Amino acid sequence: MYTDTHTHTTFSSDGKMSPEEAVIAAKEKNLSGIAFTDHFDYDYPGNNHEFRYSFDEYFDKIVPIKEKYAGDFSVYTAVEVGFQKHVYNEINSIINKYDFDFIIGSTHVINRVDPYSGEFYKGRSKEETYLEYIKAVYENVMLFDNYDAMGHFDYHIRYATMFKNRTFYYKDFSDYMDEIFKHLISKNIALEINTSTYQKVPLDTQNLIRYKELGGEMVTLGSDAHRVEDIARIFKEILPIIKDCGFDYIVHFEQRKPVFDKIIL
Ligand SMILES: [Zn+2]
Ligand SMILES: [Zn+2]
Repeated sequence: MYTDTHTHTTFSSDGKMSPEEAVIAAKEKNLSGIAFTDHFDYDYPGNNHEFRYSFDEYFDKIVPIKEKYAGDFSVYTAVEVGFQKHVYNEINSIINKYDFDFIIGSTHVINRVDPYSGEFYKGRSKEETYLEYIKAVYENVMLFDNYDAMGHFDYHIRYATMFKNRTFYYKDFSDYMDEIFKHLISKNIALEINTSTYQKVPLDTQNLIRYKELGGEMVTLGSDAHRVEDIARIFKEILPIIKDCGFDYIVHFEQRKPVFDKIIL
């Protein structure tokens, strides 16, 4: 039994499901838990109200749902923080006030541009844009400290539709990836396998194999669902791939501590 560790409800500006609807769908899909990791992107370019919400309201809504299902199904209070270096202090001072089960640290914005917009790629090569993205991930991962899993390290490939082969290959960025992996391992921060990305573009398993080789043991599995249909998307397909890379367990977090769930195929 697994937990979907990355989902967005209507607390996220782009979320299309209520937490209750998500719990019902997750139970139907035989999950044992779900983490509601709504977007918190401080100073998102263009509109600072986008991807922001009241954490007080979030906890007021989610905690009773967590209590209602306790013993039967686990609901985790969580957040997906969008890292940007220039607002390090602001981000920390806000998230440190709340008692989350789980925090994902993600890079959505690179030099004030979200690859989602398409602008990021205009007139530029795969090499140039992929390098810029992974450099930003590297800098964020080194700077920020209060998070439990690094979200979608190859987020940008979802939107790189102009390139014929948009997989993020470990061998092309091995220097950065090795440093990122070593850092995560030394800080007990998990590596996220984000199935929203791999539903669209194949994962280069060398990334996982190398992480494992360096001593990495903690991978989280998240669908990045914004609507009920996408909860646990392609978990069935990706679990054998994770196992083939040498992992017997995936992890989810409760009260900021990893819990290992055995992969049973
Ligand atoms: Zn994200
Ligand atoms: Zn997300």
